[in-house]
Amino acid sequence: MFRLVLPALLLSATPLFAQWKLDDQFKPLKAGDIVDVKSMPAPEGAIVLFDGKSVDKWTKTNGKPVEWKLEDGHWEGVKGHGDIVTKEKFAGKFKLHAEFRVPYEPDNKGQGRGNSGIYVQGRYEIQVLDSYGLKSGKNDCAAIYDIFPPRENVCKAPSVWQSYDIEFTSPVFDTDGKKKTEPVRITVYHNGVKVHDDAKVEKDNTTAGLGGDPAKPGPILLQDHGHPVQFRNIWLLPSK
Ligand code: MG
Repeated sequence: MFRLVLPALLLSATPLFAQWKLDDQFKPLKAGDIVDVKSMPAPEGAIVLFDGKSVDKWTKTNGKPVEWKLEDGHWEGVKGHGDIVTKEKFAGKFKLHAEFRVPYEPDNKGQGRGNSGIYVQGRYEIQVLDSYGLKSGKNDCAAIYDIFPPRENVCKAPSVWQSYDIEFTSPVFDTDGKKKTEPVRITVYHNGVKVHDDAKVEKDNTTAGLGGDPAKPGPILLQDHGHPVQFRNIWLLPSK
């Protein structure tokens, strides 16, 4: 039976709006919400993980080269590609800085709007999502995914650059590495505003994390959730 489904499919696959530009339909709550966050250069002593040019520090989770779109100093997730991880693994105490922006997708809703995430040690996800203007829940942008919502919603509009500064302290284990004596502790600044203050996370692998032994170091992971989320300027500063 022949049906005219193809033209409809083609139409629905073609965005009627620019994903990286707001249109007249978008009404910002505040003027500052449509201004990019100021990019913060890596301080002295930081390990630059992504400078917008070199992708050498990253790999797919299966060890193959990353094939995200690299253009104009940023990286864009490609649907179906899979998560990417730093080749280096990290432990102890450090600060992670990353800048990101989510596409403007007014026809999508909830977890279907610009979903990605930054997993510290591959295990603890700080959610990336277009949650602009919502009352933030524990699955929204800047949430420690499915554990704690951010204290407030400080999202910028979609298509606008935002930042995370994540102060991370690995969980502590006893000398044989079996018994946890201190949970992981996570402080997050979203666009410069503290939205988690030394949050103690008892669960050592949030949804879709890499898992593994939480007593061991882990990589930084950027999630492929099927949406074209962009990243730039990612660095990590180990604590002395
Ligand atoms: Mg996510």
